[in-house]
Amino acid sequence: MKKLFIASGNAHKLEEINDILSRNGVEIELYTPKDFDFKEEPVEDGTTFEENAYKKASFYHERVNMPVIADDSGICIDFLDGGPGIHSARYLSDMSYPEKCQYIIRMMDGVKERGARFVDVLCFIDINNEVNYYKGVNEGEIALEAKGEKGFGYDPIFLIPEYNRTEAELGEDYKNEFSHRAKALKKWIIDAKDKL
Ligand code: IMP
Repeated sequence: MKKLFIASGNAHKLEEINDILSRNGVEIELYTPKDFDFKEEPVEDGTTFEENAYKKASFYHERVNMPVIADDSGICIDFLDGGPGIHSARYLSDMSYPEKCQYIIRMMDGVKERGARFVDVLCFIDINNEVNYYKGVNEGEIALEAKGEKGFGYDPIFLIPEYNRTEAELGEDYKNEFSHRAKALKKWIIDAKDKL
């Protein structure tokens, strides 16, 4: 069976990636950093999603003998001029995610323009050592209150206007078909067949 290294230690992301791959009939032997004994971690000090995804992918590609995929993602809020964007994981770093969500809701109290999007960029270093990128964007709004127990991170405040529910209310049947990550991975699935 073909092998793929997924350059992420984020259990929520890995669960989603696994589910998206299996929903789309992709059968590959998957490895993650947990399967190895790495002493270091990649440094995500790029200025774009692409740069950070490449930093993660190339770090592991130098250390494992198989194709590597890395994703860099985040939430971009119009009210914050596109922030926290690439800094989403480190934004308000002394707070838990429920606290970060509450902070954003309070900060945007009374704000009418609530547009936001989740962005995901995948960097894939293929069997020929070539670097490929795939981007997925999912448009939504910052909800008026945090709702839902599913998903992770900023999902409880990311409202999908079409359903008038947050991603944390909609859960994996929505996310693993339509999220930023699902959109990027579906592009990868179409392109990667001959590159593994
Ligand atoms: P990174 O891609 O590991 O740098 O981290 C991205 C960060 O963006 C995560 O830690 C979350 O805070 C946020 N994020 C990315 N994707 C999602 C998602 O699908 N739902 C909720 N939050 C997300």
